[in-house]
Parts: sequence; structure tokens; C-alpha cells
Amino acid sequence: QAGGEEHAFSAEVGRLLDLVVHALYSEREIFLRELVANAADATDRRRFEALTDAARTLPEGAGVRIDPDKDARRLTISDDGTGMSKDELARNLGTIARSGTRAFGQELDKQKPGENAGDRPSLIGQFGVGFYAAFMVADHVDVVSRRAGSDEAWRWSSDGKGSFTLSPATRERPGTDIVLYIKEDADEFLDAWRLESIVRKWADHIAWPITIRRDGEDTPANAGTALWRKPKGEVTEEQLTEFYRHVSHNFDTPWATLHWHAEGTIEFTALLFIPGSRPFEFGEQVRDSRVRLHVRRMFITDDAALLPPWMRFVQGVVDTEDLPLNVSREMLQATPVLARIRKAVTNRVLNELRSRATDAESYATFWDNFGPVLKEGIWDDAEYRTDLAGLARFRSSTEEGWTTLADYVSRMKDGQEAIYYLTGDNPDTLPASPQLEGFRARGIEVLLLSDPVDSFWPDRLGTFEGKALRSVSQGHADLDKFEAPQDDGARADLEALLPAMKAALGEAVSDVRGTSRLVGSAVVLSAAGQGPDLQLQRLLRRSGQ
Ligand code: ADP
Ligand code: MG
Repeated sequence: QAGGEEHAFSAEVGRLLDLVVHALYSEREIFLRELVANAADATDRRRFEALTDAARTLPEGAGVRIDPDKDARRLTISDDGTGMSKDELARNLGTIARSGTRAFGQELDKQKPGENAGDRPSLIGQFGVGFYAAFMVADHVDVVSRRAGSDEAWRWSSDGKGSFTLSPATRERPGTDIVLYIKEDADEFLDAWRLESIVRKWADHIAWPITIRRDGEDTPANAGTALWRKPKGEVTEEQLTEFYRHVSHNFDTPWATLHWHAEGTIEFTALLFIPGSRPFEFGEQVRDSRVRLHVRRMFITDDAALLPPWMRFVQGVVDTEDLPLNVSREMLQATPVLARIRKAVTNRVLNELRSRATDAESYATFWDNFGPVLKEGIWDDAEYRTDLAGLARFRSSTEEGWTTLADYVSRMKDGQEAIYYLTGDNPDTLPASPQLEGFRARGIEVLLLSDPVDSFWPDRLGTFEGKALRSVSQGHADLDKFEAPQDDGARADLEALLPAMKAALGEAVSDVRGTSRLVGSAVVLSAAGQGPDLQLQRLLRRSGQ
């Protein structure tokens, strides 16, 4: 665009564009999925913004319009969404800041240049590359956008080769037009029927109307029924997976799909998913659940914390009849309706986990991905602590694979009072810890805990089925009641040695004692009496406390 301000793409965008442009033919159609998803997201956002700013109210019939123009070799995707200001155009379309695109970049970083080039197209299909997918089919892209609530419009323009320009533009209404100048070899994407089949395949579930201009008319292209409102029998596995990918911004297949309608004191429909793999950067920034709240099909918000933080891996939609459509943020915080939904949904997911836990192998996949998150709930959610302890899985000094607290209790030795556990950083070295020797020699099982959260929840849980949880590194681990494997003849010599060692170590330790906990090793570090567990002390020291 002559006369516009020129900006360089960030380095990652440049690299991504290079790949996207060289992707294989068969995967190119996903550009439409990406652009339509963005248009739908922007329309959702504007709807929510309008609740507190009437100037942003959506126009009648808001939706996504797809308009192919064969003569001009131009394909336009228009929306009535929230639009982008000049700064937002530069930031959102000039750098990689978000979800899919970012995850994709990280996946590529793991590959050496030139290696597995054949995998890349499928990688692109799986991840989605967001807006930049447009350059698979277009050699030039213009974005004309006007922010809702503003009169200014801007044009972003680029041939996807290193830079973009920004220049003032005009647009009658707020929203965004993505204008693709279709490549020589991509004619198919100027054909209305072909476009419609792509929308049906990838975007049928989108709740806003999507139309395609054909013979001078805008014809509806998506079913438009909110997927979760359809009777179970009418929804295909494929549709569910595509919907899951849309709401979660993940690209795998779900481990669990929960679809139900609740009636009674509150009425709602839920379609929820537990991901099949741990998403990139999962849970690092946000601890809040992102499950989407809809009221009578309309998207309201994804930050209503519909599920507790320790269920934040759950994705999907809850759609209720019991809130007004114009529900405000303040009202969301005050209404008892949300608390009731929250409880019902949480219990339903817990039930699902309980029944899926009977398939040990499949449950292990889930536990590997999200076990540490559930254990946060044992630590900070008194209401669900006991339920979660029952769902938790552990490594143990005597068992192969995963075990449960209940199974541990059933294996306890006669006279054993406590459930013993050992915490540490490294799951591979824990089984060889000298702390275990005395226990092993006496045939007492010890749970091996290696997630950071493991230093915190056992104290909070306190007991399980009436048995106390006790760290082996706490001095009071009373092994003496159980028969020691070797006789105590060495004790007398030890009595003479202890004062000398104590003198040598001085201030560095609070005491030096004889112990029955060791068999092969000579010495072991131990936490003082009732003091905090050793691993907890290490963690606290590391965080400067
Ligand atoms: P993602 O959708 O994963 O965030 P994209 O590359 O698809 O990544 O889009 C980048 C960003 O550009 C979006 O997060 C959004 O802020 C902005 N954007 C893209 N398309 C539109 C649109 N049609 N209307 C408003 N904003 C948009
Ligand atoms: Mg996107």
C-alpha cells in the first residue's frame, strides 16, 4: 500500500510465514477455518463488551460473511466483531503472542532445520496457525478494521514477505474485512460451493450465522445450531472433536467428553471435555477455569470461573436458561445461580473421573497430564479434599505403576499406624533414597511423591481412612515397633561416636542421633521432630523464605 507506514514482522512471524507458504496443497483449506474462527471470536468479544458500553452494541443480524469474487480473484471474509485499532493491528497481526500459533512455533523449535519437513503440513493442520494461514492461498492480504466504539478505520496490508504497512482507511460500520488476493494455483477458493463445503466441515458448530455470497445472494453455510443443544444421537464424533478444538484452542482429541442436560432447581446444558494431552504452557499463567458461559445459546464470557481452579484443564461450554441475556459482570459475581451450576458441574466431572478411574491404563494417561492439578485441590479446597484424595494416584516403594491411598491402607502391616511418604524432586532417584532403607528392610511401603505440590497437600489432608499421613524424613517415623532386620550390637559403639560427630558438625545440625531407619547407608539427613518435611524446607529455601 503506497504511502502507508511500513513495519517489519517479528522474527518468529517471518519464520512461520515462510513455512506456511510452503505447506502442502491438501492442507490449505484450513485457512478458512482460522479466519472464520477469528471472526466468530471477535463477534463474541464485541457482544460482551456491549454489555457495559452501549456504543459497541452488535447490529441486527451480526455474523460472518464470505464473499468470493472470481473476476477480481479476491476473497473477502467480513465480520461485525469488535475490530482492531491501529495498535492492535500492528500487535496482533505483526507478532506471535497467542495460543495456537505460539504452540506451533514451539513444536517447530524442536525440529532441526530441514528435518521432518514432510511432517510439517500435518503439523499445520493439527495446530492451526491462526491468521497467517491466509498466506497459504493468497499472495497479498489486506485487513480493513474499525474498532467498535470508534470512528477510525485502518488498513493493514502485506504480501507476507517480511513487512506490512498500516494506512488510514474507511469502513462504514465497526468490524473487520480480511481481503485475500488469491494465488494463481488456488482458484478453488474462489468457488462458492467449495467454500461452503469447507465451512460445513470445519465451522458448522459456530454459533454466529456464516453466509457465502453466491449468485448475488448471501446463503447460509453453517447449521448454526449450537452443538451442545442438539440431541446426543445427532452429534457426530467428528463434530465434537472439531468443537473441542475450537473452544479449547487445543489440537488433540479429548480424553473425555461429557454432554448432558440438567433440569430441576437450575436448568443448563453442558458440553465439556478433558483434553487428551497436556496443552502447551498449561496452567502457568491462568489458574482460573476457562469454561465458557452461554445464556440461551449466546456466549457471555469465559472468565466466570465456572469450575474450581484445580479443574482448569476442563474445556467446553455451559449454557443456562436461568440468567438474563444481559447479565453483567457484577451480577455474575453476585448471583447464586452460578454457584449452583458450579457445584453441579464439578460433581459431574468428579463422577466421570471416578468411573473412568476403573480403567487403570486410560486413567494413567489422564493422571500423567493433570494429576498435579488435581492435587492442588487436596491442598486448597476443603470441600473436595477427600474426594480428590480418593482419585489421586501414587508411585510406591513396593508396587509397580500407580497405586491409590485406599490400596496402600489395605496393604498396611499389622500395627502400622501411618501412611508413609517420601517427597523429592526427581522421580527416578526417589526409589534409591537412603530414607527408604529402614522401611524397606521392614517391608513397610512408602509412597514416592515428586511433584512440587506434594510438599503441601499431605499436611492438609492429615489422614486418610483414619490413618495419618507421615513423611519418612520427619524424625518421629517410628520404626522401632517393627522388628529390625539386624541386631543392635552396633548401638554401643554408636553411643561413643555420637558426641564426637555432634562436636564436629557444631551449628550445622540441631542433633545427631542413632537411627533404625538405615540399613546400607551410614548417615541420613532428617527433619527435626515435628518440623516441616525436608523437601518442603528445600522448596521454601529456594523461594527465599
Ligand atoms: P489466535 O486466534 O490464536 O489468537 P490468530 O493468529 O488467529 O491467533 O489471531 C491473532 C489475533 O488477531 C487474535 O487473537 C485477535 O486479537 C486478532 N484478530 C484476528 N482476526 C480478527 C478479527 N477478524 N477481528 C478482530 N481481531 C482479530
Ligand atoms: Mg485464531
